[in-house]
Amino acid sequence: MFGCDYYCTFCIVPFTRGKMQSRSREEILKEVKNLDEKGYKEIIYLGQTVNAYGIDNKFQYDFADLLEETVSLVKNIRWIRFTSPYPTNFNQKQIEVISKYSKIAKHIHLPLQSGNNEILRKMARRYTVEQFLDVISQFREKNEYIGLSTDIIVGFPTETEEQFYDTLSVVEKVRFDQAFMFAYSEREGTKAANYQGAIPYRERLKRLYKLIEVQNKITEEKNREYVGKIVEILVEGSTDKNPLMWEGRTETNKIVVFNKPNKDISGKFAKVKINNSFLWGLEGELIEVESD
Ligand code: SF4
Repeated sequence: MFGCDYYCTFCIVPFTRGKMQSRSREEILKEVKNLDEKGYKEIIYLGQTVNAYGIDNKFQYDFADLLEETVSLVKNIRWIRFTSPYPTNFNQKQIEVISKYSKIAKHIHLPLQSGNNEILRKMARRYTVEQFLDVISQFREKNEYIGLSTDIIVGFPTETEEQFYDTLSVVEKVRFDQAFMFAYSEREGTKAANYQGAIPYRERLKRLYKLIEVQNKITEEKNREYVGKIVEILVEGSTDKNPLMWEGRTETNKIVVFNKPNKDISGKFAKVKINNSFLWGLEGELIEVESD
């Protein structure tokens, strides 16, 4: 999908990328088929609000239909990913399709932005905290394990300390695997840039550091749960920092590093036994690599 017309008050995207537009079903599936025939193992459907796919045809063919048809079309592609969905664009049908097919990777990046309804309203987000939590519960009910990540902004204009603590409490309740956390910063041309009640910059940072502290502890705890387990990863290649270490990702989007293998296995699925966990991800030993 291209563009976005949700106009969250902090975001410049709708002004720069224009209205939401879904690429045609035929064009997408043709491209996917072509990638599949070339041997690609993973694809990512992208859109600012990717699960609003089909909005321009009044959802006669929607995101769930696209995912389901993709699953039945591909042979080599094993992980179909998508980012970023919008919380209230998820419906029963989408949640069922995503949960049902093993070829749809079990990782959802679901932007929360704030854990307080008044701030969400001022951000012009189209959901409440309760609706957001309901989507998370539905995914968790239908999936034994699903990786969850999010985006959060703290220090939005007028945000009180109490409202910030509401965000912390949602973070503690959901226990995201990972979060991209930001102190609010004004974007010229957006509605929120003209809002009264700016939070002093030092206070924004103070809240951000507190949030990072809480989330990092959760991320470390969740990563620790992987130690001793054997996970499947799609190997990407050597790490940027150390050519003797290689990396890949799990279906749930965890980074896994392991010693350089004795031949090039990039682009292959492999099994790795996890020996250590860190804030940034996992470390383990290669157990098995898919055959050529
Ligand atoms: S934050 Fe996302 S949904 Fe909101 S306007 Fe920007 S791109 Fe659209």
